Amino acid sequence: MSFKSLGLSEPILKAVSKKGYETPSPIQQKAIPSILEGKDILASAQTGTGKTAGFTLPMLHKLAENSYHKHRSIRALVLTPTRELAAQVFANVKEYSEFLDIRSAVIFGGVNQKPQVATIKRGIDVLVATPGRLIDLESQGALSLKHIEILVLDEADRMLDMGFLRDIERVMKLIPSRRQNLMFSATFSKDIKKLAYSILNNPVQVEATPENTAVEIIDQKVHRVAKTKKTGLIIKLISEGNWEQVLVFTRTKHGANRLTKKMVSAGITAAAIHGNKSQGARTKALAGFKNGKVRVLVATDIAARGLDIPLLPHVINFELPNVSEDYVHRIGRTGRAGASGEAISLVSADEISYLRGIEKLIGMSIDIEIIEGFEPDPNASTEPIKPGQNRSRNQSRNRNSGQRNSGNTKNSGRNRNRRRNDSKR
Ligand code: AMP
Repeated sequence: MSFKSLGLSEPILKAVSKKGYETPSPIQQKAIPSILEGKDILASAQTGTGKTAGFTLPMLHKLAENSYHKHRSIRALVLTPTRELAAQVFANVKEYSEFLDIRSAVIFGGVNQKPQVATIKRGIDVLVATPGRLIDLESQGALSLKHIEILVLDEADRMLDMGFLRDIERVMKLIPSRRQNLMFSATFSKDIKKLAYSILNNPVQVEATPENTAVEIIDQKVHRVAKTKKTGLIIKLISEGNWEQVLVFTRTKHGANRLTKKMVSAGITAAAIHGNKSQGARTKALAGFKNGKVRVLVATDIAARGLDIPLLPHVINFELPNVSEDYVHRIGRTGRAGASGEAISLVSADEISYLRGIEKLIGMSIDIEIIEGFEPDPNASTEPIKPGQNRSRNQSRNRNSGQRNSGNTKNSGRNRNRRRNDSKR
């Protein structure tokens, strides 16, 4: 299967081959022909599947095909939950439209609106936006959504998680009812289905599920460890393994800051990326990470959504997410485009129930290894921590109480990544 056989035009094929893509990914093979036919799409796909090109390429093809308009107006709108994702989708749109007469812009909050407004005023065909800033600028009269032909909702589940439902509903009222809708979501809750039902018109359903993408090719491992020893362990793993470009996930913004400081004191260049950081600080951290100046990027789930960092060798879960699907998003940062990757989770007693939930979701059990000197706390409770509750002080009293290993590492003896077909999602 080639990109050409999907029916895309020459200027787009040229841009695709410039990017070095040889074959369309499964989501691209499934989605592109239907989008070119003008159908609405409901796609189950997460970052790492090639979903961005999956909607951008046919969108650009269609816009270029019908570019009879005398004055430029915004004809395609891509809504994304985060500024990072907006910036990355925009970067993709720019690259794929290099050989077309298509202009695009990106708008998101947290930065000065003036340059954004100026770009829009010059005339654009494609707008990539986060909902808040879009509504702001529309209500100021800085842009019109009356000529939208194609609407894309990217990471729709995350938009709902972030409380954008009302904003999405407002946007729907501002755009023409006759249009093509493309909705992408990694998960399908009741709310997402409801939103899809209200927006989409007889959609073609397309799937690129974790089962046939990320999860199977990623080498996953759990280190059972006492909560108080996690920082020491992560520093040891990164330093002794000489790991470069490590993405670390924490559950909270404070946790991300704390861990970043400790790594920096241990001589590891690290930066945190989360919602409390300014846009400038986030862009700088990401750029430093991409060009190798920053060895470790510590991120929260929301901030990391949509980060486009190809071929990441190591992802570490400093804490497991309490939402199992987030685990799949996190480890999807590694092992993409066929390269092998490693995802390591540091799991303390109170996270055992999260681990069980994750194993059930991915349909496999994850190997457990215990590193000597970083054993789990035998007295710690296996009850999950509730929000606002901090048990680490009590746990530190029970440190080093027993548990010996024969070698440097110890395997739990469970089958490596064994699939349990009965518990598939
Ligand atoms: P996405 O899921 O859209 O975030 O894309 C994930 C990564 O895969 C990005 O770095 C893309 O540049 C890359 N990619 C997208 N489509 C292809 C393809 N057909 N072949 C190789 N890499 C691709």
